[in-house]
Amino acid sequence: NLILAFESSCDETSVAVIEDGQKILSNIVATQILSHQRFGGVVPEVASRHHIEQITKCIDKALNEAAVDYDDLSAVAVTYGPGLVGSLLVGVTAAKMVAWAHQLPLVPVNHMAGHLYAARFENQFAYPQLALLVSGGHTELVYMASEHEYEIIGETRDDAAGEAYDKIGRVLGVNYPAGKTIDEWAAKGSDTFHFPRAMEKEDNYDFSFSGLKSAFINTVHNANQRGQKLDKYDLAASFQQSVVDVLAEKTMRALSDYPVKQLILAGGVAANHGLRKRLERDLKEQHPEVELLMAPLKLCGDNAAMIGAAGWVNYLHGDRAGWDLNAVPGLSFARSNANPDLAIK
Ligand code: ATP
Ligand code: MG
Ligand code: FE
Repeated sequence: NLILAFESSCDETSVAVIEDGQKILSNIVATQILSHQRFGGVVPEVASRHHIEQITKCIDKALNEAAVDYDDLSAVAVTYGPGLVGSLLVGVTAAKMVAWAHQLPLVPVNHMAGHLYAARFENQFAYPQLALLVSGGHTELVYMASEHEYEIIGETRDDAAGEAYDKIGRVLGVNYPAGKTIDEWAAKGSDTFHFPRAMEKEDNYDFSFSGLKSAFINTVHNANQRGQKLDKYDLAASFQQSVVDVLAEKTMRALSDYPVKQLILAGGVAANHGLRKRLERDLKEQHPEVELLMAPLKLCGDNAAMIGAAGWVNYLHGDRAGWDLNAVPGLSFARSNANPDLAIK
């Protein structure tokens, strides 16, 4: 059973062929990062134009590399949100075109569910499950009582973790996206600045990273005004320690209130070495009964393979989109404010 999957929500154009939801036959990713770097972030109009230029090439490459034909496909899956509307529309339109021309079911996929399923290629999922989804635009704790049932129990109230990395990276002169470089610098420094850890001790599962971002930027600007040069490795390490402390603390709190079989770590920021190590350690110490599944490093960022994996599950659950499928830039799982004591019964 083969799925042709499309991803174009931000600045990666990607098409993949996935077998039975877990085997990657091909995963073509055309990134536009170089075109956006001089602007320090993704420019929506530039992104859509690149997607249009790349999408049909990606389809051909994905089918060729997988050595399959349109006739071999069972369905077409596509990210329809969240993301940039102009970018999403390119993937949605291409997926509709293929599905219509070859009379295949069209399966809509939430980009964040896609990130989550990047962790399933080498593992079996078991429920109930908790996921920490950390990316460029989102930071959320998602509880799943069973497959295909997503409930946000905590999320960022302002900046996403990845966004904070990118913004503080800019102040240090690091090219967009800065996460990977800051992560590497962090390994060479130590937490000498002790930046704030917002909401860390609050009795909820929400996050806030804008205060940390401001504290960081102020520290660097003040030093610059005094002509003082701060150690970039210590700055990176201090920033990362603050982010990792809060993410780990809130995740452990959620695990205490929601007993689950597995914890999933996924999304672009899931590639962070400090975060991966910290969750491994904390879980072993505090919740050894919970199995930790982390998305493989090469599948943390945006790609269509993860959309095919999530799409396969949606397909089996009967999710089908009509030819009127539209992009939904603000698509989100439902937010739950339910008392966790009730939720786990
Ligand atoms: P979303 O998935 O929320 O729609 P997005 O698709 O733009 O947003 P992703 O592609 O999932 O985001 O992730 C990109 C983000 O991950 C960027 O902010 C980038 O800086 C960050 N990132 C990548 N590698 C690392 C790393 N090693 N440490 C920290 N952050 C990282
Ligand atoms: Mg990207
Ligand atoms: Fe993403």
